Order: sequence, then structure tokens, then C-alpha cells
Amino acid sequence: MDYDVIFRFVKRLLKKISTVIKKICSLIKSMNKCEWRYDKEDGYYETECESNFSFVDGGPCDNDITYCHNCGNKIKVIDDEE
Ligand SMILES: [Zn+2]
Repeated sequence: MDYDVIFRFVKRLLKKISTVIKKICSLIKSMNKCEWRYDKEDGYYETECESNFSFVDGGPCDNDITYCHNCGNKIKVIDDEE
């Protein structure tokens, strides 16, 4: 039996599995959201990960901010206005 062939096959297989696991991890990470709630009185966003952020003009969408600067998750803006 040629063990070298088996060894190369297993090595390729492990590399493919590793790539799939990395893709799944990045997908899970992109699904995590950080909720940003606007504090109207003080004019800043309170983040779910217990930080805060304010903009000179507009909000996260107006400033092309997609990810939270504190936790790195995608931002979900919670609008309390009716
Ligand atoms: Zn966050």
C-alpha cells in the first residue's frame, strides 16, 4: 500500500475542511449584531456592547459605518421614534 498517496489525500482533505470551518466562522461572525440606540437628549449612540459613539453629522448609515468600533459586529440601529 502506498501510504504517501493516502497521506497526501488526508492532507488535502484537512485543508478543505479547514477552509470550510473558516467560512462558517466568518458567516457566524457576520450574523452577530450590535444594537445601537440613539440617545436623543445627549445626542450619541449607546451600543449593545456597552460603549457609545457620536457623529458630527447624521448617523451610522449617513457616515457609511457598518461595523461597531468596539466589538466588531455589524451595527443594527434601533430607532425608538414612532
Ligand atoms: Zn458593539
